[in-house]
Amino acid sequence: MTNEKDWRPATRLVHGGALRSPFNETSEALFLTQGFVYPSAEKAEARFNGDDPGFVYSRYANPTVDMFETRMCELEGAGAARATASGMAAVTAALLASVRAGEHIVAAKALFGSCRYIAETVLPRFGVEATLVDGTKIEEWKAAVRPNTRVMFLESPTNPTLSVVDIAAVADIAHEAGARLVVDNVFATALWQSPLKLGADTVVYSATKHIDGQGRCLGGIVLSDEEWIEEEFHPFFKHTGPSMSPFNAWVMLKGLETLPLRIERQTESAGRIADFLADHKAVSKLIYPGRADHPQADIVKKQMTGGSTLVAFELAGGKEAAFSFCNALDIIKISNNLGDAKSIICHPATTTHQSVAEEARLEMGITGGMLRFSVGLEHVDDLLADIDEALAVI
Ligand SMILES: *Cc1c(COP(=O)(O)O)cnc(C)c1O
Repeated sequence: MTNEKDWRPATRLVHGGALRSPFNETSEALFLTQGFVYPSAEKAEARFNGDDPGFVYSRYANPTVDMFETRMCELEGAGAARATASGMAAVTAALLASVRAGEHIVAAKALFGSCRYIAETVLPRFGVEATLVDGTKIEEWKAAVRPNTRVMFLESPTNPTLSVVDIAAVADIAHEAGARLVVDNVFATALWQSPLKLGADTVVYSATKHIDGQGRCLGGIVLSDEEWIEEEFHPFFKHTGPSMSPFNAWVMLKGLETLPLRIERQTESAGRIADFLADHKAVSKLIYPGRADHPQADIVKKQMTGGSTLVAFELAGGKEAAFSFCNALDIIKISNNLGDAKSIICHPATTTHQSVAEEARLEMGITGGMLRFSVGLEHVDDLLADIDEALAVI
């Protein structure tokens, strides 16, 4: 018998957390049910007071969702997790469950647009102030600490410019201040970065991206130590109801089985595409976490085991060149999603970051010529040909 404790991630992602019904199905079952019946009134009482462990209502727990949560915990090395309806439900619940009115959070400026809205606009409405810092400057995190700081929040690599924040260094500052560090690990994926091992307290994902990986369902997940999830997070989650549907959890579970294959291939292709773009005369700037010329290459080496499935680059011709390039692409589609099997190009300044003030945009490096490319599962030579032809048009 192999020891389950020694299973490598690829094995855990196929078998981890599997629960079988009395039919002993091979593929994980989809328990599309809201509630559960009890054999007696006594059993119902015991289920509700916790004496009899088991399912009560799918807003708090469901067998298919449970399998997804357990499999993610195994991958992440987390004590417990709760799956949510979307990535934003995960981020919002993780932050709201951690703070009270009168407290303070510190967040990196370079955040996914909606995450920035939660920090900058939603939390202050409830009396929680947020200080936004340049995440790559460790001294700014330190300077922002107040006696009532409870949470530090960052994503790394960042969307869309792929800059990298030193997670261990920010975790140290947070812990010294008596705060918890929450990391949005969407861009790195659990395969290339393990925030909990670097000192973070909570990890959040939009499962909509690489975990689904084929552009079908929305989802998210919050992972942390068992005590925080059960004591702090679960009551908030149970009573506010941002839960993932069993159907989506089932799709995500199947997505996890192929996650390593997809991420490895997409990262390998992204590395080749980054090298090609770096040498092209129409490209004025290229940022790829797998290259030695990445602005934080030393931190990438310290905290990531792989590059990224995304490439950020700037065309010298500005917005006009960026639009001509996007319009000339054939295989690569114009969209705002990422982590999909289909390659996707996005012009952040006019789409995902359109609502961000121009000054803040430029501060983050989101110029008119800047493009974010999510590399899919197509053959890399076909993608390179598509890019080469589109660059020739501008
Ligand atoms: C997409 C994304 C989110 C939000 O996830 P949804 O599933 O769209 O709600 C949050 N953070 C990052 C980094 C993302 O890429």
